[in-house]
Amino acid sequence: MARAVHDRRISHGGTLLSSHRHTIPDLGVSSWAIVCGRSRTARGAVKVSSDNKAGVGQVFSATCLHAPRRDVLEVMDDVVIHVGEDGFIREVLDPGAPGRDALVDAARQAGSLSVIRSPRFLIPGLVDLHIHAPQWPQLGKALHLPLEDWLQQATFPLESRYSDVVFATATYRSLVSTLLANGTTTAVYFATLHDESTRVLADICIELGQRALVGRVAMDHPGECPDFYRDESSDAAVRGTDDLIAYLARVGKGRVLPAITPRFIPSCTDELLAGLGELAAQHGCHIQTHCSESDWEHDHVLARMGRSDAEALHEFGLVGRHSVLAHANLLGDSDMDLIKQQGAGVAHCPLSNIYFSSAVFPLRRALEKGLHVGLGTDISGGPSASMFETCKHTVHSARMLELGVNARLSADERGVPNSRIDFIEAFHLATAGGAVVLDLPVGRFEPGYRFDAVQIDPDAVDGGILRFDGLDSTEDLLQKTIYGATRSNIAAVWVDGQAVAERAD
Ligand SMILES: [Zn+2]
Repeated sequence: MARAVHDRRISHGGTLLSSHRHTIPDLGVSSWAIVCGRSRTARGAVKVSSDNKAGVGQVFSATCLHAPRRDVLEVMDDVVIHVGEDGFIREVLDPGAPGRDALVDAARQAGSLSVIRSPRFLIPGLVDLHIHAPQWPQLGKALHLPLEDWLQQATFPLESRYSDVVFATATYRSLVSTLLANGTTTAVYFATLHDESTRVLADICIELGQRALVGRVAMDHPGECPDFYRDESSDAAVRGTDDLIAYLARVGKGRVLPAITPRFIPSCTDELLAGLGELAAQHGCHIQTHCSESDWEHDHVLARMGRSDAEALHEFGLVGRHSVLAHANLLGDSDMDLIKQQGAGVAHCPLSNIYFSSAVFPLRRALEKGLHVGLGTDISGGPSASMFETCKHTVHSARMLELGVNARLSADERGVPNSRIDFIEAFHLATAGGAVVLDLPVGRFEPGYRFDAVQIDPDAVDGGILRFDGLDSTEDLLQKTIYGATRSNIAAVWVDGQAVAERAD
C-alpha cells in the first residue's frame, strides 16, 4: 500500500489527532468526470468513455472518507484509487506517490479515469443489513397499527401477493433501483415464502448490479402464520431454501448470495428450525432472522423453548459467523456473550424499533462487548429507505437512551449513562461495521477491498446540505451528509468499480 500517511484521524469524540492535509494538484484534466459507459453534460459531472482497452481497470481521483474502525475517521485528500477489473482496490495513492502520475496518464488514455472534484467526495457504499423487500409498497404507512395488527391486517396480506410474479417484478425493480440511488450498495433482503418471486428479487439485484443477500422466508407454524400465507410444510420450506442456495451458486456471480431465513422463532416449527440449521451446516451460507425484538417475541420464545431467542437459535445451529440477528433489543449479557463467541452479528434498526420494539437497543454495550454490529432500515417497519436517516436515528436513539425520556423522573435516574453514539461511529456501522457483520470485503477504501462507493455532491441545488465556504471542513460535510443528505446529494454510485446509479441532472 503506497499511502503511508493518514491525512487526518479523528477520535470518536471529535479530537483531531493529526492533520496532514494535502493540497489538491491540478491533474491537467477538465472538470469532466468520467464514469464507465454514461454521458452527461452537467457541471462537474460526466464525460463518457466506456473504452478501457489498455486493461488499466478503473482509476478514481477524489477526496475519500471512510471509518475503518468505529473510533477513526480517515479523510484522504486527493487520493488516486486504482480498481482492478475484478472490482478489487489495488492501490490507494497519495499525491506524489511513486507511479501515481503514470497510472493517471494511462487511465486517461484508456478512458477509465474518473475525476471527482472538491467539494464532492467519495464514501464507501452503504450496507443495509435488514430489509423486507416485499414491504416496499407499504413504506410510510400502516405504522399507526400495533405489531399484531400490522402483521395480520397489513403485512401478511401484502406479502402473500408475491405469488404474482408480475407484481413482484415491478415492486422489486422499484425497490432495488431506489436503494441503489440512495447509495445502498449492499442490501440484505428478506423476500417472501414464494420460490419464484424470491428468484426474481435475486435476478433484479444481479441485473442492476447491487451486492445483496437474498432470503426465501421460511414460516410454517400453523398457530402463528395465517392460512393464506404459510409454508405448506417444513419440508417445503427447507426444499425452497435449498433450491435458492443452488440457484444463486449458479447465477449469483458471488455478488448476490443466499441467506437462510427463518422469519423468527414464533413463525417456525421446531422441525423447520432444525432443517434450516442442517442446511446452514451443510452450505456455510449466511443466516438472517429476528432476535429478541420485542417483549412479545422474547416472552413467546422463553415460554415455548425455556430459553432466550439467541440460545434457542444457537441450539438449532442458526447462530454462527455468518448470522445476522435483527433488532436484538432485549439481549441479556449471556446472550451477548454467546453471540460474540459465535462471531454472529446484529442488525440494529433504530427507526423501526421506535414503532415495534419495547426498548432501545443497548448499542454502546454491544460494541464495548465486542459484538459485530451494523445498521438496517428494516423497510417497512422503518419508514425510510435512506441509510443516512438510519445513521441519524442511531445517534438519536442512543442519545435518548443515555439521557432518558421520562421527564417525571429525576435526571440522574432517567437514562443509561455512557450510551451515546456519535456520527462517526454511526457512519462506521453503516459501512465497514456492516461489512464485518457479513464478512464481506467492502466498506473501506483499502487494497484488498472491493470498490463500492458513493459520490456525495454537497452543492446539489435541491439537496439537503448547506455548505459555507471557509466554515465547513470535509469532516463537517460528512456530518452534514448524515444529518441532511437527500437522494439529490448522491451524484453517482459504484459497485465493484462499475457505475450502478447516477443522478439525472
Ligand atoms: Zn424485520
